[in-house]
Amino acid sequence: MAAEPLFIFDLDNTLYPPEVTLWRIVDARIERYVQERLGVDPESARRIRKEFLREFGTTLRGLMNYHGVPPGEYLDFVHDVPIHEIVPPRPELHRMLSGLPGRRVVFTNGSEAYARRVLAALGVSDLMEGIYGIEFMEYIAKPSPYPYAKLLQATGARAWESLFCEDVRENLLPARELGMFTVWVGGKEETSPAHAVVKDVCDLPGILHRFLEPDISGGSR
Ligand SMILES: [Mg+2]
Repeated sequence: MAAEPLFIFDLDNTLYPPEVTLWRIVDARIERYVQERLGVDPESARRIRKEFLREFGTTLRGLMNYHGVPPGEYLDFVHDVPIHEIVPPRPELHRMLSGLPGRRVVFTNGSEAYARRVLAALGVSDLMEGIYGIEFMEYIAKPSPYPYAKLLQATGARAWESLFCEDVRENLLPARELGMFTVWVGGKEETSPAHAVVKDVCDLPGILHRFLEPDISGGSR
């Protein structure tokens, strides 16, 4: 591998495991926001969100397109969570990230400010070169191919020198299509569209040789 590799990490349920209930709490706030903003009952809110997620990848985009919701107002509301009380520091994550032979960035459908707070709670802020959140994506979220291409452009990285870790299956597909090495965090080997599956992001070093030395391990990308 010629240039320095780029390690790209999703945030929620990737840098911390789903047992940390942060994403569930944010998700409940999204649901509440939809209910209050649109004046609908919980069941309708869930149905509307499902449709938005299918069409746009995020609830926010649907609210912006169909209801003129200002993104700042929405993001402030849904991310208004006491992150430090919910997310414990992860020294093992710090160890793993420091050992990676390349640059590290966060690529999340959440806001940049939210990502910053989560990284601080995890104790890994110093290890991330950049945070590419929903504002950077111009609210065109994963799995739309647009932000992936924009990320590569912004970081100056080439797809085949990039590794992408993510817990949501659909979000892996555009990355793989572009030529990135994809790792499904917490995924299932049997149904995996990714090059590798790890139980926890801290297990990444165990499969790293397949990314760094694809020829030696005999795998083709
Ligand atoms: Mg995630």
